[in-house]
Amino acid sequence: MRTLYYGDRGIRVAYLQTALSKAGFPLNLDGIFGSRTCAALKQYMGEERACLADEKVWAGLFDYLKGYQRNDAGETVILPFEIVSGQVPYTAWLTDLVIEGLLIRYPFLETGSIGKSVMGKEIPWLKIGRGPVSVFYNASFHANESITTPVLLKFAEEYAKAYTEKGEISGVNAQELFDRYTLYLVPLVNPDGVDLVNGWLDRGIYFRVAQEIGNRYPNIPFPSGWKANIEGVDLNLQFPAGWEEAKKIKAAQGYTSPAPRDFVGESPLEAPESAAVYQFTKERDFSLILAYHTQGEVIYWKYLDYEPQRSYEIAQYFGRVSGYTVEETPSVSGYAGYKDWFIQEYNRPGYTIEVGRGINPLPMSQFDAIYEANRGILLGGMTQL
Ligand SMILES: [Zn+2]
Repeated sequence: MRTLYYGDRGIRVAYLQTALSKAGFPLNLDGIFGSRTCAALKQYMGEERACLADEKVWAGLFDYLKGYQRNDAGETVILPFEIVSGQVPYTAWLTDLVIEGLLIRYPFLETGSIGKSVMGKEIPWLKIGRGPVSVFYNASFHANESITTPVLLKFAEEYAKAYTEKGEISGVNAQELFDRYTLYLVPLVNPDGVDLVNGWLDRGIYFRVAQEIGNRYPNIPFPSGWKANIEGVDLNLQFPAGWEEAKKIKAAQGYTSPAPRDFVGESPLEAPESAAVYQFTKERDFSLILAYHTQGEVIYWKYLDYEPQRSYEIAQYFGRVSGYTVEETPSVSGYAGYKDWFIQEYNRPGYTIEVGRGINPLPMSQFDAIYEANRGILLGGMTQL
């Protein structure tokens, strides 16, 4: 973490404010390092010092984002709040801290990496359960749809907590769920793109190349309109299911080279992030997948004429519990997506869930409502099988 100074603005300051709030010095998470943040920082430090957050300050504050501390005896002390915040935008950095915190608090969770992003970041997976039936939920294929990342992380936390307490989630017994199903989550498929949109990545060669790509599309706001990976390939147009068709459709719309969105790439699975999700899926035996996106409060369940058994029925259930509408994918966006490929390859239920309404990236103020609407889908992806 770079050192933050009085007057700084941005996502790192919002994380500083989040940590200070959780440490007992509540602040507006506005990302502005002003006099209030300065006062809270001084109170937290308990000493008169300059208004800056350097490595030493951060070393203590990390605990409040991970939700645990080591005391003087070296023992782990769980802090009395939930780890997953739905108030600040996520980045790869925050996602890693949250996963680390979840693993400490709930040691029965498992984690690993599906592979690396273009910039070399590990793309983590998280596993809950030990049942014979495996399902897979992923989020943030698209860079400016990262509100979906904490949806999966919060579900992991709620589920793990209920399991520990031998409790229920929405009337579903967590221990039974754990024994019947194995749930894999990949909460951040596109870490580089998300870091760009949320302002974490704001300098360096990758940022400048992205900026140059962005400059060629003056009608797409930069970086907020960015959906692609950091090299300008749309990760959800990379799958070998009608990829040539997608290429024609997007070329007709003017996307024939790296772009903030809608460029299918030079060939399927050339983007390491898409290839990693593909490989991760191939190596397992998922009975159902959910791919989380934003815009429209819609559930897409079909690919071409493929209608996997019970797929429509489960989609109808998802619609009922969320209030979202169930639709067939419009043909202009009906190819080369992850769920398209999954349905074609396995003929099993696969869904794109489009949460929220507004302009991407959706404001975090929508998070609580989005999570509430989707809890039943996240559970139903297992219980309705
Ligand atoms: Zn999307």
